Amino acid sequence: MIHEAVIVDVDGTLAEFNPSEVHQWVLGVEKDWDPFFEHMRNAPAITNVLKLVKLLKAQGQHIVICSGRPDSHREATVEWLKQQDVPFDAVYLRPNNTDHLADEVVKDQLLKAMHNDGYQPWLVLDDRTAVVDHWRAMGLTCLQCAPGDF
Ligand SMILES: [Mg+2]
Repeated sequence: MIHEAVIVDVDGTLAEFNPSEVHQWVLGVEKDWDPFFEHMRNAPAITNVLKLVKLLKAQGQHIVICSGRPDSHREATVEWLKQQDVPFDAVYLRPNNTDHLADEVVKDQLLKAMHNDGYQPWLVLDDRTAVVDHWRAMGLTCLQCAPGDF
């Protein structure tokens, strides 16, 4: 069964996120996830993106959440998505012990996993320029929802 799908990023796309506030925890090679999750636990949703995701879901698209957040903290991410009433069909996260890999490398791997699971993504919502460029290089249409030069 093939599912048409839209890939949606979390931080900076669905969740309000200020790179300058969190960079010391997650934007280097060494990640310190616990304070990051504590900080993002009550992050407000970005309402216009959430509205678009709900419209796409209502039109029959599968919503595939895809984040460079680690799988070890899956529960916290799923909880936030539910708390904010984000519709989603699947959640793909950074595999454990891959903190050294750049977000775009991780997302490339996650796209392969989606294909293996029967998802056929055609559209991506993301904010970070390096990742946006990578999605486009992989042949997907990516709508960049915020300035993402960090
Ligand atoms: Mg992001």
